[in-house]
Amino acid sequence: MDTPLTETFHTTAFLGLGAMGAPMAAHLSARSRASGGQTLVWNRTPGRAQEHAAQHGSVAATLEDAAGADLIVSCLPTSAEVDEVLDAAHAHLKPGSVWVDCTSGHPDAAPRQRDQLSSAGVRFLDAPVSGGTVAAKAGTLTVMVGGPADVLDAVRPQLAFAGKVVRVGDTGAGFAVKAVNNALLAVNLWAAGEGLAILGLRGVELGAALEVINASSGRSNTTENLIPQRVLTREFPATFGLGLLAKDAGIALDMAEQARGSAPVIAQVTGLYRAASRVVGAQEDHTAALKLIEQMNGVVLR
Ligand code: NDP
Repeated sequence: MDTPLTETFHTTAFLGLGAMGAPMAAHLSARSRASGGQTLVWNRTPGRAQEHAAQHGSVAATLEDAAGADLIVSCLPTSAEVDEVLDAAHAHLKPGSVWVDCTSGHPDAAPRQRDQLSSAGVRFLDAPVSGGTVAAKAGTLTVMVGGPADVLDAVRPQLAFAGKVVRVGDTGAGFAVKAVNNALLAVNLWAAGEGLAILGLRGVELGAALEVINASSGRSNTTENLIPQRVLTREFPATFGLGLLAKDAGIALDMAEQARGSAPVIAQVTGLYRAASRVVGAQEDHTAALKLIEQMNGVVLR
């Protein structure tokens, strides 16, 4: 029989205080403190956890201590890092607790992680997020959840960083939806970059071109927000790594291949973002992928 699910989430824990994790953990901490509980924070580089504790009233913890929380939320680069952390935490987990992984992970990892946690009496939800660092700070992230509905119902009130929480299916479905969402971002961003490069080669003023596109059928979030704010300004603020977007497109491609589906545009875009990660730099902001288009065309998008 399954270990009964915990009835209270007095102690919560957040693993991974990166660009997304730090603001998400701040919301978790504020929620816990308001209800008399506490949020333990763990980060591979411990200084970040200590900084978080000083700024947000969370409690910097060892992984062993964080693993004993009633609710554990993780946000790491890929499922490979989640596997490593899960292995290290396994012996210290508390039966009846829930592990919510907000990493943009791989759908293949989710059932494996669920089963590994289940052997310790812990429930698992794959729950990647969308909205970027702006929504993470505002506490308005969209969370797409795979896993049992009763487990989501139990933890839903704890997801203080969320504006919208949607259960999209069984274990792994959250990771699947996230990968496809980001593959669409990758396609839109690349296509808009190519379009603007063509206009740049003809000497068209790109600000004016975007004004028209954004009042027309070619618009997308990339033309309305990302390109004017990050590319034309030449700022490329590093909030979401180019390497992470290449990873997400690759997950979408893996899913197509596993199902023997046909997704040639996503296949091509995955290759292009992998190339951009190598040439431009995986740690650069994802919008810096357009620097590769600039090199390919001998233009600067400004
Ligand atoms: P960051 O690179 O900013 O942070 C990564 C975090 O993971 C850091 O806390 C880092 O610790 C930790 N980490 C890295 N490697 C390991 C390891 N081997 N073991 C333990 N911890 C490790 O990433 P983001 O916050 O940008 O992204 C996190 C996830 O969220 C990714 O899956 C990403 O695709 C997704 N995402 C990101 C968005 C964004 O706008 N940035 C938007 C939506 C989803 P350390 O401090 O020690 O380096």
